Amino acid sequence: MKNENSRPHFQSIVTHADADIEDGTNIAPSIHPTTTFYARDAAEFAEMANEPRHPRYYTRYGNPTHQRAEATIAKLEGAEAALVMGSGMGAITTVMLALVSSGDHIVAQNNHYMGTTKLLTEVLTRLGVEVTLVDQTDPTAFERAIQPNTRLIMVESPVNPLLHVTDFKAVTAMAKARDILTVADNTFATPINQRPLAFGVDLVVHSATKYLGGHHDLTAGAVAGSQALIERIWGTYVLVGSVMSAFDAWLLLRGLRTLPLRVRQHNQTALAVAEFLAQHRAIEQVHYPGLEDHPQHDLANAQMSPGFGGVLSFQLKGGYKETEQFMTRLNFIRQAVSLGGYETLAAHVAAMWGGTLSDEQLRTAGVEPNLVRFSTGLEDAADIIADLEQALKLAS
Ligand SMILES: *Cc1c(COP(=O)(O)O)cnc(C)c1O
Repeated sequence: MKNENSRPHFQSIVTHADADIEDGTNIAPSIHPTTTFYARDAAEFAEMANEPRHPRYYTRYGNPTHQRAEATIAKLEGAEAALVMGSGMGAITTVMLALVSSGDHIVAQNNHYMGTTKLLTEVLTRLGVEVTLVDQTDPTAFERAIQPNTRLIMVESPVNPLLHVTDFKAVTAMAKARDILTVADNTFATPINQRPLAFGVDLVVHSATKYLGGHHDLTAGAVAGSQALIERIWGTYVLVGSVMSAFDAWLLLRGLRTLPLRVRQHNQTALAVAEFLAQHRAIEQVHYPGLEDHPQHDLANAQMSPGFGGVLSFQLKGGYKETEQFMTRLNFIRQAVSLGGYETLAAHVAAMWGGTLSDEQLRTAGVEPNLVRFSTGLEDAADIIADLEQALKLAS
């Protein structure tokens, strides 16, 4: 156990970070499902129209419910400012469009969230941006990929499908010396386990659809960083128009209130599930940075605290067919994409990506036919393990 006293008081942050945002005297935040806001006089109208990020002008520009979620996320990440958006991909796309131009070069990882990989390699390249993908487990690979026109390095840790870890400190030290911006996708770890800005990363992006929301009931994204960078991104955001609805901002805030409690439970349960699977004779391999035999456990330990998140993956002994049969035998654990919610979800990765990637691309990405991605929910660990056990028993 690391020194807990020096950690930010996350549970107090999610309770009070948005308290000063003017919203009447109600304790629970208001939802502001209004497109537009009126000015009380002509001078106020001019002020509303011309102040960047005014929270009461036009909802695509800002909204008080968004502002509350933003204040909370900024504080959780230890950032000056944050901006919420309509989805994680909306946030990532907006950040890229704001920060790179035709002729620029991006270095990113071999493994990212699939949407990010496609955005980089299929959309940005079409707009004249060069992209080099490197092995994220080798910090020197980032440096070797640098070109005179490199503007941005994208990192994500831990990352699908094998929960590889990226060394933020090594990458940012190298980037800072060259004035290259770094962006980290912190969706899997959450700020409770990992604060990339503390390791020198410039911007953190989230799919708030996952842990920040936490209830599988909204689609949302966020970016956090310095005031100056967030204002610059906002300038592109109002044009891209990836706006979060006021209702979703309210749901996100509600989810954030319990984020530290939920993540602590996810950490414990995922570790218990990973340990159970690791000793099971029907299992070939478990991928979880919290396991001591994870090839990057020491790095994960230095970068993440107090835990390693709720996502793990594992390989059964057997092939595609046996994995399919195992998935079908699961009782309350449901097969679905997404992660980070209160309910455990499992996905047969080769089935999920089979339509998009060839067998060879799947293998290069580390996806064997027997790989299962597992998002541990908040059910009792004993019940999750019992469901896995009965589905595995029949397999061996
Ligand atoms: C889901 C996810 C995204 C995309 O987020 P959406 O909210 O679905 O647009 C990006 N990064 C990671 C790591 C994700 O898990």
